[in-house]
Amino acid sequence: MKQEKTRVRFAPSPTGPLHIGGVRTALYNYLFTKQHQGDFVLRIEDTDSQRFVPGAEEYIINAFSWLGISFDEGPHQGGNFGPYRQSERRSIYRQYVEQLLNEKSAYIAFDTPEQLEAKRNEIPNFQYDASTRMSMTNSLTLSKEKVQEMIDAGKQYVVRIKIEPGQTVVVNDIIRGKVSVDSSILDDKVLYKSSDRLPTYHLANIVDDHLMEITHVIRGEEWLPSAPLHVILYKYLGWEETMPRFAHLPLLLKPEGNGKLSKRDGDRLGFPVFPLQWNDSKTGDISSGYRESGYLPEAVINFLALLGWNPGTEKEIFSIQELIDAFSLEKCSKSGAKFDYKKGEWFNHQYIQLKSDKEIAELFLPVLKENNIETSVDEKLMKIVGLVKERVNFVKELWEQSSFFFVAPTSYDEKTVKKRWKEDSSEKLNRLYAVLESLTDFSAENTETIVKLWMEQNEYHLGNIMNVFRLALVGEAKGPHIFDITEIIGKEETLKRLKKAISVLG
Ligand code: GLU
Repeated sequence: MKQEKTRVRFAPSPTGPLHIGGVRTALYNYLFTKQHQGDFVLRIEDTDSQRFVPGAEEYIINAFSWLGISFDEGPHQGGNFGPYRQSERRSIYRQYVEQLLNEKSAYIAFDTPEQLEAKRNEIPNFQYDASTRMSMTNSLTLSKEKVQEMIDAGKQYVVRIKIEPGQTVVVNDIIRGKVSVDSSILDDKVLYKSSDRLPTYHLANIVDDHLMEITHVIRGEEWLPSAPLHVILYKYLGWEETMPRFAHLPLLLKPEGNGKLSKRDGDRLGFPVFPLQWNDSKTGDISSGYRESGYLPEAVINFLALLGWNPGTEKEIFSIQELIDAFSLEKCSKSGAKFDYKKGEWFNHQYIQLKSDKEIAELFLPVLKENNIETSVDEKLMKIVGLVKERVNFVKELWEQSSFFFVAPTSYDEKTVKKRWKEDSSEKLNRLYAVLESLTDFSAENTETIVKLWMEQNEYHLGNIMNVFRLALVGEAKGPHIFDITEIIGKEETLKRLKKAISVLG
Protein backbone atom coordinates (compact mmCIF):
# COMPACT_ATOMS: atom_id res chain seq x y z
CA MET A 1 0.00 0.00 0.00
CA LYS A 2 1.24 3.43 -0.81
CA GLN A 3 2.24 5.29 2.32
CA GLU A 4 0.36 8.60 2.40
CA LYS A 5 2.40 11.69 3.01
CA THR A 6 1.75 13.31 6.36
CA ARG A 7 0.28 16.79 5.95
CA VAL A 8 -0.77 18.96 8.85
CA ARG A 9 -1.92 22.52 9.08
CA PHE A 10 -1.96 25.37 11.53
CA ALA A 11 -5.13 27.31 10.89
CA PRO A 12 -5.30 30.49 12.96
CA SER A 13 -7.96 33.14 12.61
CA PRO A 14 -6.37 36.57 12.29
CA THR A 15 -8.36 38.11 15.12
CA GLY A 16 -5.47 39.55 17.14
CA PRO A 17 -2.06 38.50 18.41
CA LEU A 18 -1.44 34.78 18.54
CA HIS A 19 -1.88 33.39 22.04
CA ILE A 20 0.97 31.27 23.38
CA GLY A 21 -1.41 28.27 23.38
CA GLY A 22 -1.69 28.69 19.61
CA VAL A 23 2.07 28.68 19.36
CA ARG A 24 2.14 25.38 21.24
CA THR A 25 -0.49 23.93 18.89
CA ALA A 26 1.60 24.96 15.89
CA LEU A 27 4.74 23.54 17.48
CA TYR A 28 3.13 20.13 18.07
CA ASN A 29 1.93 20.09 14.47
CA TYR A 30 5.43 20.93 13.32
CA LEU A 31 7.16 18.31 15.50
CA PHE A 32 4.70 15.64 14.45
CA THR A 33 4.90 16.27 10.73
CA LYS A 34 8.68 16.73 10.65
CA GLN A 35 9.08 13.40 12.42
CA HIS A 36 7.20 11.87 9.51
CA GLN A 37 9.01 13.93 6.86
CA GLY A 38 5.65 15.53 6.18
CA ASP A 39 4.41 18.98 5.22
CA PHE A 40 3.36 21.85 7.43
CA VAL A 41 0.76 24.20 6.01
CA LEU A 42 -0.23 27.63 7.27
CA ARG A 43 -3.82 28.47 6.47
CA ILE A 44 -5.39 31.76 7.46
CA GLU A 45 -9.01 31.26 8.51
CA ASP A 46 -10.38 34.73 7.90
CA THR A 47 -14.01 34.00 7.09
CA ASP A 48 -15.25 36.01 10.03
CA SER A 49 -14.80 39.46 8.57
CA GLN A 50 -16.18 41.13 11.67
CA ARG A 51 -13.38 39.81 13.83
CA PHE A 52 -10.61 40.44 11.31
CA VAL A 53 -7.72 42.48 12.73
CA PRO A 54 -5.24 44.11 10.37
CA GLY A 55 -1.66 43.07 11.03
CA ALA A 56 -2.59 39.81 12.72
CA GLU A 57 -1.48 37.61 9.82
CA GLU A 58 1.86 39.38 9.59
CA TYR A 59 2.24 39.01 13.33
CA ILE A 60 1.71 35.24 13.07
CA ILE A 61 4.30 34.93 10.32
CA ASN A 62 6.84 37.05 12.21
CA ALA A 63 6.28 35.08 15.39
CA PHE A 64 7.11 31.75 13.75
CA SER A 65 10.02 33.17 11.89
CA TRP A 66 11.44 34.39 15.22
CA LEU A 67 10.86 30.95 16.72
CA GLY A 68 12.55 29.24 13.78
CA ILE A 69 9.48 27.23 12.85
CA SER A 70 8.99 27.24 9.12
CA PHE A 71 6.00 26.35 7.02
CA ASP A 72 6.21 24.42 3.77
CA GLU A 73 3.16 26.14 2.34
CA GLY A 74 1.26 29.27 3.26
CA PRO A 75 -0.10 32.61 2.09
CA HIS A 76 3.32 34.25 2.16
CA GLN A 77 5.16 31.55 0.25
CA GLY A 78 2.55 29.75 -1.83
CA GLY A 79 2.34 26.02 -2.55
CA ASN A 80 0.38 23.54 -4.62
CA PHE A 81 -2.81 23.75 -2.58
CA GLY A 82 -3.41 27.50 -2.46
CA PRO A 83 -4.77 30.03 -2.00
CA TYR A 84 -4.05 29.74 1.70
CA ARG A 85 -6.33 32.52 2.88
CA GLN A 86 -9.95 31.42 3.15
CA SER A 87 -11.20 34.84 2.06
CA GLU A 88 -9.50 34.12 -1.29
CA ARG A 89 -11.26 30.76 -1.64
CA ARG A 90 -14.85 32.02 -1.77
CA SER A 91 -15.54 30.49 -5.17
CA ILE A 92 -14.33 27.08 -4.02
CA TYR A 93 -16.80 26.74 -1.15
CA ARG A 94 -19.98 27.57 -3.04
CA GLN A 95 -20.15 24.24 -4.87
CA TYR A 96 -20.02 22.29 -1.59
CA VAL A 97 -22.84 24.39 -0.20
CA GLU A 98 -24.82 23.51 -3.36
CA GLN A 99 -23.95 19.84 -2.98
CA LEU A 100 -25.19 19.74 0.60
CA LEU A 101 -28.38 21.58 -0.36
CA ASN A 102 -29.04 19.32 -3.33
CA GLU A 103 -28.55 16.22 -1.24
CA LYS A 104 -30.84 17.61 1.47
CA SER A 105 -28.04 17.47 4.02
CA ALA A 106 -28.48 21.18 4.52
CA TYR A 107 -31.24 23.73 4.15
CA ILE A 108 -31.75 27.44 3.74
CA ALA A 109 -32.99 29.44 6.72
CA PHE A 110 -34.31 33.01 6.68
CA ASP A 111 -34.90 33.57 10.39
CA THR A 112 -33.83 37.06 11.33
CA PRO A 113 -31.81 37.76 14.48
CA GLU A 114 -35.00 39.20 16.02
CA GLN A 115 -36.99 36.06 15.25
CA LEU A 116 -34.29 33.88 16.73
CA GLU A 117 -34.17 36.06 19.82
CA ALA A 118 -37.95 35.77 20.20
CA LYS A 119 -37.67 31.95 20.00
CA ARG A 120 -34.96 31.95 22.61
CA ASN A 121 -37.21 33.89 24.94
CA GLU A 122 -40.12 31.59 24.22
CA ILE A 123 -38.35 28.22 24.52
CA PRO A 124 -35.86 27.66 27.36
CA ASN A 125 -32.50 26.35 26.04
CA PHE A 126 -33.68 26.84 22.51
CA GLN A 127 -31.57 25.06 19.93
CA TYR A 128 -32.06 25.10 16.15
CA ASP A 129 -32.35 21.35 15.58
CA ALA A 130 -34.71 18.52 14.64
CA SER A 131 -37.05 19.41 17.49
CA THR A 132 -37.48 23.05 16.44
CA ARG A 133 -36.56 23.42 12.79
CA MET A 134 -40.07 22.69 11.56
CA SER A 135 -41.37 25.73 13.43
CA MET A 136 -38.87 28.10 11.84
CA THR A 137 -38.67 30.08 8.60
CA ASN A 138 -36.65 27.84 6.31
CA SER A 139 -36.68 25.80 3.13
CA LEU A 140 -38.10 22.84 5.04
CA THR A 141 -41.20 24.79 6.05
CA LEU A 142 -41.61 27.05 3.00
CA SER A 143 -42.49 26.06 -0.53
CA LYS A 144 -39.76 25.89 -3.15
CA GLU A 145 -41.30 28.87 -4.93
CA LYS A 146 -41.47 30.95 -1.79
CA VAL A 147 -37.82 30.24 -1.02
CA GLN A 148 -36.81 31.32 -4.51
CA GLU A 149 -38.97 34.39 -4.29
CA MET A 150 -37.34 35.43 -1.01
CA ILE A 151 -33.85 34.88 -2.39
CA ASP A 152 -34.71 36.85 -5.53
CA ALA A 153 -36.05 39.65 -3.35
CA GLY A 154 -32.62 39.87 -1.77
CA LYS A 155 -33.59 38.43 1.63
CA GLN A 156 -30.54 37.44 3.61
CA TYR A 157 -30.29 33.78 4.52
CA VAL A 158 -27.99 31.22 6.02
CA VAL A 159 -27.44 27.59 5.11
CA ARG A 160 -27.73 25.20 8.03
CA ILE A 161 -26.59 21.61 8.30
CA LYS A 162 -29.42 19.14 8.87
CA ILE A 163 -28.40 16.92 11.73
CA GLU A 164 -30.18 13.56 11.96
CA PRO A 165 -31.06 13.05 15.62
CA GLY A 166 -30.51 9.79 17.49
CA GLN A 167 -27.31 8.78 15.76
CA THR A 168 -24.07 7.93 17.51
CA VAL A 169 -21.23 10.02 16.18
CA VAL A 170 -17.76 8.72 16.90
CA VAL A 171 -14.64 10.86 16.93
CA ASN A 172 -11.48 8.79 17.10
CA ASP A 173 -9.00 10.99 18.83
CA ILE A 174 -5.35 10.00 19.01
CA ILE A 175 -4.98 11.53 22.48
CA ARG A 176 -8.42 10.90 23.93
CA GLY A 177 -9.39 7.62 22.27
CA LYS A 178 -12.95 7.05 21.13
CA VAL A 179 -15.28 9.95 21.88
CA SER A 180 -18.95 9.10 21.21
CA VAL A 181 -21.69 11.66 21.05
CA ASP A 182 -25.44 11.34 20.47
CA SER A 183 -26.27 13.53 17.50
CA SER A 184 -29.47 14.71 19.24
CA ILE A 185 -27.43 17.14 21.31
CA LEU A 186 -25.96 18.82 18.23
CA ASP A 187 -27.59 21.84 16.65
CA ASP A 188 -28.06 22.66 12.98
CA LYS A 189 -24.99 24.86 12.74
CA VAL A 190 -24.76 27.61 10.17
CA LEU A 191 -22.43 26.61 7.33
CA TYR A 192 -22.81 29.60 5.04
CA LYS A 193 -24.02 33.19 5.21
CA SER A 194 -25.43 35.01 2.21
CA SER A 195 -24.59 38.35 3.80
CA ASP A 196 -20.86 38.01 3.17
CA ARG A 197 -21.03 35.13 0.68
CA LEU A 198 -18.67 33.17 2.88
CA PRO A 199 -18.89 29.82 4.61
CA THR A 200 -18.52 29.71 8.37
CA TYR A 201 -15.52 28.18 10.07
CA HIS A 202 -17.01 24.68 10.15
CA LEU A 203 -17.59 24.28 6.44
CA ALA A 204 -14.51 26.12 5.26
CA ASN A 205 -12.33 24.16 7.65
CA ILE A 206 -13.58 20.78 6.43
CA VAL A 207 -13.49 21.69 2.74
CA ASP A 208 -9.97 23.04 3.05
CA ASP A 209 -8.64 20.17 5.12
CA HIS A 210 -10.02 17.84 2.45
CA LEU A 211 -8.76 19.77 -0.57
CA MET A 212 -5.40 20.43 1.03
CA GLU A 213 -5.09 16.67 1.73
CA ILE A 214 -4.56 17.19 5.43
CA THR A 215 -3.92 13.84 7.13
CA HIS A 216 -3.94 14.90 10.79
CA VAL A 217 -5.86 17.67 12.50
CA ILE A 218 -3.94 18.60 15.64
CA ARG A 219 -5.59 21.45 17.51
CA GLY A 220 -6.66 22.74 20.90
CA GLU A 221 -9.18 21.00 23.12
CA GLU A 222 -11.62 23.87 22.68
CA TRP A 223 -12.40 22.40 19.25
CA LEU A 224 -13.34 18.96 20.56
CA PRO A 225 -17.05 19.89 20.88
CA SER A 226 -17.03 20.79 17.17
CA ALA A 227 -15.41 17.53 16.11
CA PRO A 228 -18.65 15.44 15.92
CA LEU A 229 -20.12 18.06 13.57
CA HIS A 230 -16.96 17.86 11.48
CA VAL A 231 -17.19 14.07 11.31
CA ILE A 232 -20.81 14.42 10.10
CA LEU A 233 -19.73 16.94 7.48
CA TYR A 234 -17.08 14.56 6.16
CA LYS A 235 -19.79 11.92 5.86
CA TYR A 236 -22.29 14.23 4.17
CA LEU A 237 -19.68 15.38 1.67
CA GLY A 238 -18.68 11.79 0.91
CA TRP A 239 -15.16 12.18 2.22
CA GLU A 240 -15.29 9.77 5.13
CA GLU A 241 -12.61 7.53 3.62
CA THR A 242 -10.00 10.26 3.62
CA MET A 243 -11.10 12.00 6.79
CA PRO A 244 -8.04 13.25 8.70
CA ARG A 245 -7.21 11.79 12.07
CA PHE A 246 -7.89 14.04 15.03
CA ALA A 247 -5.78 14.93 18.04
CA HIS A 248 -7.14 17.47 20.51
CA LEU A 249 -4.41 18.93 22.68
CA PRO A 250 -4.86 19.65 26.38
CA LEU A 251 -5.55 23.24 27.40
CA LEU A 252 -2.93 25.50 28.89
CA LEU A 253 -4.11 26.31 32.39
CA LYS A 254 -3.45 29.21 34.75
CA PRO A 255 -0.24 28.81 36.80
CA GLU A 256 -2.44 27.92 39.79
CA GLY A 257 -4.12 25.26 37.68
CA ASN A 258 -7.72 26.48 37.88
CA GLY A 259 -9.10 27.48 34.52
CA LYS A 260 -7.78 28.44 31.16
CA LEU A 261 -4.67 30.61 30.86
CA SER A 262 -5.61 34.16 29.88
CA LYS A 263 -3.89 37.42 29.13
CA ARG A 264 -5.02 38.67 32.52
CA ASP A 265 -2.94 35.96 34.24
CA GLY A 266 0.11 37.26 32.43
CA ASP A 267 -0.64 40.85 33.46
CA ARG A 268 -1.31 39.78 37.04
CA LEU A 269 1.82 37.68 37.47
CA GLY A 270 4.12 39.49 35.07
CA PHE A 271 4.76 37.12 32.18
CA PRO A 272 3.92 37.41 28.48
CA VAL A 273 1.19 35.31 26.90
CA PHE A 274 2.12 36.32 23.35
CA PRO A 275 5.24 35.39 21.39
CA LEU A 276 5.91 38.95 20.21
CA GLN A 277 4.88 42.29 21.58
CA TRP A 278 1.50 43.41 20.25
CA ASN A 279 0.45 47.01 19.91
CA ASP A 280 -3.30 47.27 19.71
CA SER A 281 -3.95 50.04 17.22
CA LYS A 282 -7.53 50.52 18.46
CA THR A 283 -6.97 50.76 22.20
CA GLY A 284 -3.31 51.74 22.17
CA ASP A 285 -2.63 48.88 24.60
CA ILE A 286 0.76 47.23 24.42
CA SER A 287 0.95 43.55 25.35
CA SER A 288 4.36 42.16 26.16
CA GLY A 289 5.93 39.41 24.09
CA TYR A 290 8.42 36.65 24.80
CA ARG A 291 10.86 38.11 22.30
CA GLU A 292 10.82 41.61 23.78
CA SER A 293 10.98 40.23 27.32
CA GLY A 294 14.32 38.70 26.52
CA TYR A 295 13.48 35.04 25.97
CA LEU A 296 15.58 33.03 23.59
CA PRO A 297 13.43 31.32 20.96
CA GLU A 298 14.98 27.92 21.72
CA ALA A 299 13.97 28.29 25.37
CA VAL A 300 10.38 29.16 24.45
CA ILE A 301 10.17 26.13 22.15
CA ASN A 302 11.60 23.77 24.74
CA PHE A 303 9.32 25.16 27.44
CA LEU A 304 6.18 24.88 25.31
CA ALA A 305 7.05 21.41 24.02
CA LEU A 306 6.85 20.05 27.55
CA LEU A 307 3.52 21.71 28.35
CA GLY A 308 1.21 18.85 27.53
CA TRP A 309 3.69 16.31 26.22
CA ASN A 310 5.81 14.11 28.42
CA PRO A 311 8.79 12.32 26.88
CA GLY A 312 8.57 9.66 29.58
CA THR A 313 12.15 10.29 30.73
CA GLU A 314 13.84 12.78 33.04
CA LYS A 315 15.34 14.66 30.11
CA GLU A 316 14.26 18.30 29.96
CA ILE A 317 16.62 20.09 27.60
CA PHE A 318 15.81 19.24 23.99
CA SER A 319 17.11 20.75 20.79
CA ILE A 320 14.48 21.15 18.09
CA GLN A 321 15.82 18.04 16.32
CA GLU A 322 15.66 16.05 19.54
CA LEU A 323 12.08 17.19 19.98
CA ILE A 324 11.23 16.11 16.45
CA ASP A 325 12.74 12.69 17.13
CA ALA A 326 11.14 12.17 20.54
CA PHE A 327 7.69 13.73 20.12
CA SER A 328 4.60 11.58 20.08
CA LEU A 329 0.92 12.46 20.18
CA GLU A 330 0.27 9.28 22.16
CA LYS A 331 2.36 10.71 24.99
CA CYS A 332 0.35 13.93 25.12
CA SER A 333 -1.70 14.36 28.22
CA LYS A 334 -5.50 14.41 28.25
CA SER A 335 -5.66 16.84 31.14
CA GLY A 336 -4.68 20.50 31.01
CA ALA A 337 -1.11 21.66 31.51
CA LYS A 338 -0.40 24.25 34.19
CA PHE A 339 1.44 27.19 32.72
CA ASP A 340 4.44 27.25 35.03
CA TYR A 341 6.04 30.47 33.78
CA LYS A 342 8.85 30.15 36.31
CA LYS A 343 9.85 27.03 34.44
CA GLY A 344 9.97 29.19 31.32
CA GLU A 345 12.48 31.45 33.06
CA TRP A 346 14.44 28.39 34.11
CA PHE A 347 14.62 27.25 30.49
CA ASN A 348 15.86 30.66 29.46
CA HIS A 349 18.56 30.45 32.10
CA GLN A 350 19.59 27.01 30.81
CA TYR A 351 19.78 28.19 27.21
CA ILE A 352 21.89 31.20 28.17
CA GLN A 353 24.35 28.79 29.76
CA LEU A 354 24.30 26.56 26.68
CA LYS A 355 25.10 29.39 24.30
CA SER A 356 28.69 30.45 23.77
CA ASP A 357 29.98 33.56 25.52
CA LYS A 358 30.38 35.09 22.10
CA GLU A 359 26.71 34.61 21.21
CA ILE A 360 25.56 36.02 24.53
CA ALA A 361 27.99 38.93 24.20
CA GLU A 362 26.37 39.78 20.86
CA LEU A 363 22.97 39.85 22.51
CA PHE A 364 24.38 41.92 25.36
CA LEU A 365 25.64 44.72 23.07
CA PRO A 366 22.30 46.55 22.74
CA VAL A 367 21.85 46.47 26.52
CA LEU A 368 25.31 47.99 26.94
CA LYS A 369 24.48 50.63 24.41
CA GLU A 370 21.37 51.57 26.36
CA ASN A 371 23.70 52.14 29.29
CA ASN A 372 26.01 54.29 27.19
CA ILE A 373 28.73 51.69 26.86
CA GLU A 374 30.07 51.54 23.33
CA THR A 375 32.07 48.37 22.87
CA SER A 376 32.34 45.40 20.57
CA VAL A 377 32.40 41.67 21.04
CA ASP A 378 36.03 41.28 22.08
CA GLU A 379 37.96 39.01 24.43
CA LYS A 380 37.18 41.24 27.37
CA LEU A 381 33.43 41.30 26.81
CA MET A 382 33.28 37.56 26.27
CA LYS A 383 35.21 37.02 29.50
CA ILE A 384 32.82 39.25 31.43
CA VAL A 385 29.84 37.40 30.01
CA GLY A 386 31.43 34.07 30.89
CA LEU A 387 31.98 35.20 34.48
CA VAL A 388 28.45 36.35 35.22
CA LYS A 389 26.06 34.54 32.94
CA GLU A 390 25.34 31.78 35.42
CA ARG A 391 23.72 34.43 37.61
CA VAL A 392 21.06 35.53 35.13
CA ASN A 393 17.82 34.30 33.58
CA PHE A 394 17.77 37.05 30.95
CA VAL A 395 20.47 38.77 28.93
CA LYS A 396 19.34 42.18 30.13
CA GLU A 397 20.12 41.12 33.72
CA LEU A 398 23.78 40.85 32.73
CA TRP A 399 24.07 44.61 33.15
CA GLU A 400 23.07 44.49 36.78
CA GLN A 401 25.63 41.73 37.32
CA SER A 402 28.51 43.31 35.43
CA SER A 403 28.13 47.10 35.27
CA PHE A 404 31.17 47.54 37.57
CA PHE A 405 33.39 46.11 34.85
CA PHE A 406 32.52 49.13 32.75
CA VAL A 407 32.00 51.92 35.26
CA ALA A 408 33.65 52.51 38.62
CA PRO A 409 31.34 52.64 41.63
CA THR A 410 30.13 56.13 42.41
CA SER A 411 28.89 55.17 45.86
CA TYR A 412 29.34 52.35 48.34
CA ASP A 413 26.54 50.19 49.65
CA GLU A 414 25.80 51.48 53.13
CA LYS A 415 25.00 48.15 54.73
CA THR A 416 28.17 46.59 53.42
CA VAL A 417 30.22 49.56 54.57
CA LYS A 418 28.76 49.32 58.05
CA LYS A 419 29.42 45.63 58.26
CA ARG A 420 32.81 45.41 56.57
CA TRP A 421 34.65 48.70 56.84
CA LYS A 422 36.77 48.52 59.98
CA GLU A 423 39.02 50.92 61.80
CA ASP A 424 42.09 49.54 60.08
CA SER A 425 40.59 49.07 56.62
CA SER A 426 42.17 52.19 55.16
CA GLU A 427 45.57 51.22 56.33
CA LYS A 428 45.22 47.66 55.01
CA LEU A 429 44.01 48.84 51.64
CA ASN A 430 46.88 51.27 51.45
CA ARG A 431 49.26 48.40 51.91
CA LEU A 432 47.42 46.30 49.41
CA TYR A 433 47.72 49.22 47.05
CA ALA A 434 51.47 49.13 47.37
CA VAL A 435 51.58 45.38 46.75
CA LEU A 436 49.46 45.67 43.63
CA GLU A 437 51.35 48.66 42.36
CA SER A 438 54.55 46.63 42.38
CA LEU A 439 53.11 43.93 40.14
CA THR A 440 54.06 43.71 36.49
CA ASP A 441 52.01 40.61 35.72
CA PHE A 442 48.41 41.51 36.55
CA SER A 443 46.84 38.21 35.51
CA ALA A 444 44.25 36.81 37.91
CA GLU A 445 46.49 33.92 38.78
CA ASN A 446 49.58 35.94 39.55
CA THR A 447 47.75 38.68 41.44
CA GLU A 448 45.95 36.10 43.57
CA THR A 449 49.19 34.25 44.41
CA ILE A 450 51.06 37.38 45.38
CA VAL A 451 48.24 38.95 47.37
CA LYS A 452 47.56 35.74 49.26
CA LEU A 453 51.22 35.30 50.03
CA TRP A 454 51.42 38.85 51.31
CA MET A 455 48.41 38.28 53.57
CA GLU A 456 49.83 35.03 54.91
CA GLN A 457 53.18 36.63 55.66
CA ASN A 458 51.48 39.42 57.53
CA GLU A 459 48.99 37.06 59.14
CA TYR A 460 46.12 39.14 57.86
CA HIS A 461 42.64 37.81 57.91
CA LEU A 462 41.80 36.96 54.32
CA GLY A 463 38.08 37.67 54.55
CA ASN A 464 38.49 41.09 56.11
CA ILE A 465 40.69 42.40 53.36
CA MET A 466 38.92 40.75 50.49
CA ASN A 467 35.57 42.15 51.58
CA VAL A 468 36.72 45.74 51.59
CA PHE A 469 38.73 45.18 48.43
CA ARG A 470 35.51 44.02 46.76
CA LEU A 471 33.65 47.00 48.15
CA ALA A 472 36.24 49.29 46.59
CA LEU A 473 36.04 47.58 43.20
CA VAL A 474 32.31 46.88 42.92
CA GLY A 475 30.67 49.26 45.39
CA GLU A 476 28.81 46.41 47.07
CA ALA A 477 29.20 42.83 48.20
CA LYS A 478 28.56 41.08 44.91
CA GLY A 479 30.31 39.94 41.76
CA PRO A 480 32.51 37.09 40.61
CA HIS A 481 35.93 36.09 41.89
CA ILE A 482 37.85 39.21 42.87
CA PHE A 483 41.00 38.52 40.90
CA ASP A 484 38.97 37.93 37.76
CA ILE A 485 37.64 41.43 38.24
CA THR A 486 41.08 42.97 38.74
CA GLU A 487 42.47 41.21 35.68
CA ILE A 488 39.66 42.51 33.49
CA ILE A 489 39.59 46.10 34.69
CA GLY A 490 43.41 46.18 34.79
CA LYS A 491 46.04 47.51 37.10
CA GLU A 492 45.49 51.21 36.62
CA GLU A 493 41.75 51.04 37.19
CA THR A 494 42.16 48.71 40.19
CA LEU A 495 44.52 51.14 41.84
CA LYS A 496 42.28 54.07 41.05
CA ARG A 497 39.29 52.39 42.65
CA LEU A 498 41.30 51.46 45.72
CA LYS A 499 42.52 55.01 46.16
CA LYS A 500 39.03 56.41 45.80
CA ALA A 501 37.51 54.03 48.35
CA ILE A 502 40.24 54.91 50.82
CA SER A 503 39.63 58.61 50.39
CA VAL A 504 35.83 58.36 50.52
CA LEU A 505 35.46 55.77 53.29
CA GLY A 506 38.70 56.11 55.19
N1 GLU B 1 -9.49 28.80 12.87
C1 GLU B 1 -9.52 27.93 14.00
C2 GLU B 1 -8.79 28.61 15.14
O1 GLU B 1 -8.73 29.80 15.11
C3 GLU B 1 -8.91 26.60 13.62
C4 GLU B 1 -9.33 25.44 14.46
C5 GLU B 1 -8.84 24.17 13.82
O2 GLU B 1 -7.62 23.94 13.89
O3 GLU B 1 -9.63 23.44 13.28
O4 GLU B 1 -8.25 28.04 16.03
